[in-house]
Amino acid sequence: MARHAGAIQAFQWVMVAVYLLLVTVPAFLPPPDDSKHIWDNLVLFAQFAFWGVWWPFVMVSMLVMGRAWCGVFCPEGAMTEWASRRGLGRAIPPWLRWKGWPFVAFVCTTVYGQMITVYEYPEAALLILGASTVMALGIGLVYGRGIRVWCRYLCPASGVFSLLSRLSPVHFRVDRESWEAAERVPAVACATLVDVRAMTGGGSCHMCGRCSGHRDAVTLTPRLPGSEVTSLPEREVSSWDTNLLAFGVMGVATGAFQWSGSPLYVALKQSLAAWLVERGIMFPLTETLPWWMLTNYASTGEVFTLLDGACLIAYIAAVAVTVGSITLAGLWLGARLAGRPEARWRLGYGLIPMGAVGLIIGLSSLTLTQLAAEGISFVWLPEARAGLLAVGLAWSGVLVWRLLPVERRPLAWLAAMAGAAALAGTWSLFFFVW
Ligand code: SF4
Repeated sequence: MARHAGAIQAFQWVMVAVYLLLVTVPAFLPPPDDSKHIWDNLVLFAQFAFWGVWWPFVMVSMLVMGRAWCGVFCPEGAMTEWASRRGLGRAIPPWLRWKGWPFVAFVCTTVYGQMITVYEYPEAALLILGASTVMALGIGLVYGRGIRVWCRYLCPASGVFSLLSRLSPVHFRVDRESWEAAERVPAVACATLVDVRAMTGGGSCHMCGRCSGHRDAVTLTPRLPGSEVTSLPEREVSSWDTNLLAFGVMGVATGAFQWSGSPLYVALKQSLAAWLVERGIMFPLTETLPWWMLTNYASTGEVFTLLDGACLIAYIAAVAVTVGSITLAGLWLGARLAGRPEARWRLGYGLIPMGAVGLIIGLSSLTLTQLAAEGISFVWLPEARAGLLAVGLAWSGVLVWRLLPVERRPLAWLAAMAGAAALAGTWSLFFFVW
């Protein structure tokens, strides 16, 4: 990768061109009718490419090869770095380094995406992806010189990618002895501002390969999947990571995937509607908003009323608070039972596999819905989903077990696994009961 940087950059610009084509052009095409297919209509093709292939498989790629998507394939990364080479080159201000941005950005993007039905309408995709791209370019133009400030601090997906990549079976390992023994050479320019010498894991490394072989000390190395989680140095442990996992990945994302198929959402809406009608308050049932605030597409007849929007937000918030609180309470209790109350944030990293499985089965549901519309379905789906949930639970179980002190394990383990059990229960209910 270090030797073929030119080829990688050329490939990144191909990705930029394809991305810009697929995100802009469909928004200006007429909506497809029922006779159209993924292979003969650009709107459906772009929809499948973004939400059926790109989004779920980017998540899977994090588990397989770390953040290589970010460093090698991501068009926004390439664009923000390009802009940063030509921009003002200002110093990164403290507010921009706030560790809570990935959490805030992930939650806001996920909820807003549901409000405007981003997975189905190209205008909505252009709005959300386009806004993100414009912000990436703007941040690149103002801050840093030849670096990816956007990717490191602000990208809505960066926090999730960082969590998932910690499970990956490969990383760039730094051999400190070789590093110290090597002759002095110019420092490697890591675009994502990783301190390569002190790097111990893959959470921030974008796997771009530019430091590969540096000082004969940096090598792409296999490792036991998840081993980074159980050997995380203290300086890498962050309460923001655990909160993002508990409330964002396991909470908000789950609510966003499930609300439209949930009988609880329907019951909530019906009871609220009845309550409003009884009191003669009709406007929440009839008023709508522009499509860029709340789904409103006369062409397909899909229009959300204020009540729809309010119920959608309330449902996602309720799932987030319920699953997130169970997760944090379980971690808190588990850490106390283990005699190490301060370890609750670290224990949370053990739940990453379960969170990853939740994301993957949620996102792949979109893929399967799109394929079903083309007449392609899979009879083994229930077994595959049950199997994935079992793998997530088991993998998290092993990591949490290993994160606990040997002498205080069983009870502490049961408590710390509460969040994983809650998430598995939510998905089981969704797929096998509802
Ligand atoms: S640490 Fe090395 S491989 Fe990782 S992003 Fe920085 S330069 Fe690229």
